Amino acid sequence: MNIHNRIYEFPGVEACETAVKIARKWGYYTKKIAKNEAKVLFVTNNFWGRSIAACSASTDPECFEGYGPFLPGFQCIPFDDLTALEIALQDPQVCGFMVEPIQGENGVVVPSEGYLKGVRSLCSKYNVLWIADEVQTGMGRTGKRLAVDYEDVLPDILVLGKSLGGGVYPVSGCLANDSVMSVITPGTHGSTFGGNPLGSKVGMKTIEILQEENLAENSYKMGQIFRQALDDRLDKKIAINVRGKGLLNAVVINRNYAQARDVCIKLKERGLISKQTREDIIRFSPPLVINEEQIRESAEIIINTINGLM
Ligand code: PLP
Repeated sequence: MNIHNRIYEFPGVEACETAVKIARKWGYYTKKIAKNEAKVLFVTNNFWGRSIAACSASTDPECFEGYGPFLPGFQCIPFDDLTALEIALQDPQVCGFMVEPIQGENGVVVPSEGYLKGVRSLCSKYNVLWIADEVQTGMGRTGKRLAVDYEDVLPDILVLGKSLGGGVYPVSGCLANDSVMSVITPGTHGSTFGGNPLGSKVGMKTIEILQEENLAENSYKMGQIFRQALDDRLDKKIAINVRGKGLLNAVVINRNYAQARDVCIKLKERGLISKQTREDIIRFSPPLVINEEQIRESAEIIINTINGLM
């Protein structure tokens, strides 16, 4: 990857905020948008954290209710909809478009093939920065180093977090090329612990280990085994959809049979940790080092638990 400039932050939300700040500043200094008129586009059902900016961009009342007034200059368009994106991008005040390559918190929603390529080409056509929020999908989680690698495209700004810390230290990162990152000049952005040596070292080491231990490849293979096992044997009346890439997967539960949260509790009692992301969606996001025996055992627990709801 050619992106070599980075700002290390802490939680993912802070790196996303940094990306929005960079996009706005780039909008004023490079795209020459009139002062305080820049707009950033997001998608419906986005999730990028809990700060006021993230709440302002959210379409989920659980995230934003009670926290107004919200930030101006944000607009949401439908996910996986290139026509809506093209219409929105025609507004010359748009400086950035932030989107997850696969929506994690929204229940592992995988866009149509070609969506990311389309996003890349439309953002280039309308001179808008594409911000890929890979806080959840990055670092091998979806079976490639980055989820954007599936379509062989590169965003203008990349946001990483979560597993960048290797499970031991909170660190996130906002990456961009010089032409974009250079709008941040000394003294115009920072935080006390941003870029601290331990966080930076952990982030770099995690990337090294990811490559050395072929964790993205493992995630790809284990994900295929996992989805195949669930697809073959889950009762389709109860589990109405199995979806995902690599080791970021979800099962959609028929609400007539159970709430996702209750299923998660049953799974926990049988030794398997999962998380409901919506009332009817269970997300599975196991460690990238999981081996075939463990992934088959996990699938077995899930199949027995879900089919046992009948
Ligand atoms: N972006 C995405 C895609 C996320 O899934 C999350 C958290 O779940 C964030 C940003 C925010 O990360 P953090 O919770 O570390 O602030």
